[in-house]
Amino acid sequence: MAVLRIDGAQIITMADGDSRVQDGWALEAVDGTITYVGPADELLPAGEPDERIDGTGCLLLPGFVNAHTHAAMTLFRGIADDMPLDPWLREKIWPAEAMLTEDDVYWGTLLGCAEMLRAGVTCFNDMYHLPRVGARAAMGCGIRMCPAGVLLGIVPNAEDMFEEAKTFTREFAARDDLCIHPMLAPHAPYTVPREMMERVIEAADEIGVPIHIHLAETADNVAAAMQTYGTTPIQAMDAIGLFEVNVLGAHCVHLDDRDIEIVAAKGAGVAHCPGSNLKLASGIARTSDLLGAGARVGLGTDGAGSNNNLDLLEEARLAALIAKVSTGDPTAVSADAALQMATLGGARAIFLEHCIGSLEVGKHCDCILVDLDAPHLHPRHSLVSHMIYAAQAADVRDTIVNGRVLMRDRKLLTIDLPKTYARVAECAKRLFPEHR
Ligand SMILES: [Zn+2]
Repeated sequence: MAVLRIDGAQIITMADGDSRVQDGWALEAVDGTITYVGPADELLPAGEPDERIDGTGCLLLPGFVNAHTHAAMTLFRGIADDMPLDPWLREKIWPAEAMLTEDDVYWGTLLGCAEMLRAGVTCFNDMYHLPRVGARAAMGCGIRMCPAGVLLGIVPNAEDMFEEAKTFTREFAARDDLCIHPMLAPHAPYTVPREMMERVIEAADEIGVPIHIHLAETADNVAAAMQTYGTTPIQAMDAIGLFEVNVLGAHCVHLDDRDIEIVAAKGAGVAHCPGSNLKLASGIARTSDLLGAGARVGLGTDGAGSNNNLDLLEEARLAALIAKVSTGDPTAVSADAALQMATLGGARAIFLEHCIGSLEVGKHCDCILVDLDAPHLHPRHSLVSHMIYAAQAADVRDTIVNGRVLMRDRKLLTIDLPKTYARVAECAKRLFPEHR
């Protein structure tokens, strides 16, 4: 039995969305599961803690959930900026991805894990090639991951990719690994034809996993659906039964009122990716409307090729700011709403709210300690406001996943950073010799 105790910190539990700051509380976890969170003087210790963290001067809160990324794309950080989505994908990203080796995916994913753990991300929802390799990187460092092999219907080896993804997903779903939650990931309606999409839906239903897909990311995506299906991507996918299984739609930028109704009514998740949407000029998602309709909305960084970092706190701030300027309403997406999206909302968006997203007894102990000893975090009028409008990723001091301390005092304990940088440099040099 491994006991972890954290005391001395101020705590925001996010239990049922409660963002009040609690003073004088403690948290205890046994074998990765939270067994107590409440007043420190009422704690009946499960035993002598194997690990104790003094959180004095820190804020303890649930770890951030990155609801949409392609972690290994850290390898593509900065190779092709300032381009529109379509040529960016077709001319830069897909040709490079055609050359990817297992080594590339492993080290690229591990670099992404390091970056995310440093920024307080404890769970990421990933869509990429060679998911088995990406999952190996996550399992090695201990971060929580929802891996899914990307499915493209328009490539020659589409059927092989699909078979491989099904085998991987089936295998990991059966393993019941506490930190790996597989999904199936058809890339998008414009890259996966209807017939294949129907088989993916069937497979997700049969295996019992959610689907992770890009939806309505750009105006061009909507035009393509109009041409193929005669309606919007959301309504087209609804008509073929996509939303009968659990679905996480990444981006969901260009939605009409009917689309928003469908997303909310069918209980689909949305990964709002403001940084990527801004950089690719994809547009501004109707986040306030989605939240107002009761949709499950989380935040995603998207891949580092189009962001260019995996800092979820930055996404939370952008989500709050962009909602205000796009609606002309400074009350749109408050700090509280943004913090919800970064934590419990993200867990709901990827259908893991029963086990992560808040600090509650019975959930996995995924949490972070944010060091409040910084000029930009004084005076302490509102810690929720500070988290969204003032805090920086570098303020995260400790990151804990499933009760295991993966970063302590800003030092990663399960990833050898110098080695990772060196291996990533080798991969980058082979993939992009023209950049050296
Ligand atoms: Zn994406």
